[in-house]
Order: sequence, then structure tokens, then C-alpha cells
Amino acid sequence: MNGEMAVIDLRSDTVTQPTPGMREAMARAPVGDDVYGEDPTVNAVEARVAELAGKEAGLLVPSGTQGNLVSLLAHCQRGDEYIVGQRYHTYWYEAGGGAVLGSIQPQPIPVGRDGTLALEDIAGVIKPPDSHFARSRLLALENTHAGRALPSTFLQAASDLAHEHGLAVHLDGARLFNAAIATDRPVSELANGADSISLCFSKGLGTPIGSVVVGSAQWIASARRWRKMVGGGMRQAGIIAAAIDYALDHHVESLAEDHRRARVLAAGLEAVVGADNVYASTNMVHLDVGDATTGDELRAALWSEGIRIAGGRRVRLVTHLDIDDAAIDHAVERIRAHLPQARSC
Ligand SMILES: *Cc1c(COP(=O)(O)O)cnc(C)c1O
Repeated sequence: MNGEMAVIDLRSDTVTQPTPGMREAMARAPVGDDVYGEDPTVNAVEARVAELAGKEAGLLVPSGTQGNLVSLLAHCQRGDEYIVGQRYHTYWYEAGGGAVLGSIQPQPIPVGRDGTLALEDIAGVIKPPDSHFARSRLLALENTHAGRALPSTFLQAASDLAHEHGLAVHLDGARLFNAAIATDRPVSELANGADSISLCFSKGLGTPIGSVVVGSAQWIASARRWRKMVGGGMRQAGIIAAAIDYALDHHVESLAEDHRRARVLAAGLEAVVGADNVYASTNMVHLDVGDATTGDELRAALWSEGIRIAGGRRVRLVTHLDIDDAAIDHAVERIRAHLPQARSC
């Protein structure tokens, strides 16, 4: 808890405090110099995550953004392009890293309401080998997208399509564990069609830092070189890997609790805004308050009471390890108290 007032922070699942047990595991971890490949805790966790995802090898990176960046760099050469959803993180939220640092051209296409891409849209932008065009080289997918867990049938079909055209597939699986829990499918099944996957542990799984990229041993060797180039070679990184190991032991099953609490939160808000304006998926609730001013006013009113949300017309509320049932009940009550006033302004 931060300060005197118990804060209920619903902005993101990145805000969690590492638990005492996790901190203890980090403190106890045997470590070595990982740039020399000598950190036993890093090596074990890279292998563990790779096996979970059904791939040969893994690579620890400090952030999901760096995981996606080294993946773009390891798949694509200068003048290649990656096909990506317009609002997918690898295009919209990563400061243009692939273009800036890799001279890789993004080819964004629309994202459906369910978070998937239309197969016709993907096929329609794959370019033939012709000197007019960038070389279509990679399809970048995302699961979950805006909290939505993508069907494994879509992931497989999109991957098959890409592979038929000689493209590789990268899956931004920042919240792939949420997708696995929500769809009751093993991570390896959701990862099956992808050549590389980036998995975040600092979101719902509650570590202070750390993502792992997985793929073939040969591809990971290349990604490792790119990681060094972008400054991601870390030394006694076993303290981070130990947090990931701990999260895999203790925090995967409890994602189901986050999902249940998101549904409770959504149900509590439906009474005020109507079922059409609130939507829960995995650990996220999207609340449409009508216009941005209403959202900003709601944000300000709640913030002064120690409840943190993002503003705007579509308010995103995220459940996580530091949100319990009492916090949900309290948040529902306070949002219900403020929202009708804000909406009538
Ligand atoms: C959070 C997130 C990432 C990575 O973000 P970092 O803050 O760099 O760890 C990547 N993709 C998606 C979909 C995300 O939500």
C-alpha cells in the first residue's frame, strides 16, 4: 500500500508490488554474469519458459517492448516489412522502434472487434517479389489484444497463411498466460503457429521487470546478438529470472481470479451505463462513459478518493494481484456514486 490511503489502482496490471515471497526468491537466487551465459537462474528460466511455449530456446529481456524489438530485428532485414494490426502494440505503442532502428517498414491493417485480423486483409497486403515493394517478411500477431483472448483457430489459420507465403510469424504474447487461462488452452497450443513469442511477466504475473522471448535455438542466437546491440545484455540478471520463476509457480492460476473480478466489476457497472457500454474480457473492463470529458471528470473524482483509473471516453479498468474482492466492491460503489452526476453534466 502506498502512503496513508489504501490505493486501488485499476489503470494497469503493471502497477503490482512484488510480494514478500517473490522478493525473498529474488534475494536467494544464485547468479552469474549472464552476458557470459553464466547465470544459472537465467538459464533455467529461459529453458523453462521455452518449454512451456513448446519452443527450443528462450531469451530474457528487460521489457516486452525490447522483446518485440529484438524479434522484429531478428526476423527482418532493412527494407523488409512486417504486417501488423493497426492497434497492436508492436505498431502503435513502441515508438516506431522497428522503423527507427531496423529500417523495417510496418504494414498496418485493421483489427476486428474480437482482436483478430481478417485473413483476406493479411493476404491482400502480402506483396509479390518485385522491386517496387518492400519485402513482406513477417506477420506480427497479438494475444490478448485489449484484453480479448484470440481463438487458437485464428492464430493457427493466420500463421498457416503467413507461412504459405514464406513469411515468419511473431506473436506478442505480453498477456498470453491470461489468454491461456481464459480459453483453457495450454500456452504451447496458443504459441504453436508462431515462430517467436514474447511473454511478459511484469503484467498480471506480478514481477517488477522482465519478459522472455522464445523461438528456435538458431533464431534465439540471433535475437541474443540484437539484444546486446540495443543495450539489453544484463549481468547478474538471475534476480529478475528468480521473480519470473516464482511467478510461474505462484501467480499463473490466480489469473483466473483476476478474470472473475473483472466480470464482477463489469456486472456492477452495467446497472449504471447499460450492458452495451461495458465489456469485460480476461482481466480488463472497458467502460464507455459517453464522452472524454465525463471520463476525465470521473477520473478526477475517483483519484481524490484513492481510486486510480485512466480518463477518456472509453475507460479501461484492469484487475491484478493487488486488487481483491473488497477493492472491487469499493470501486463499483464509488464509480456508481460518481458516474450519474458526471454523465448528467
Ligand atoms: C505491455 C505490453 C507490451 C510490452 O510492454 P513493456 O511495458 O515494454 O513491457 C507489449 N505488448 C503488449 C500487448 C502489451 O500490453
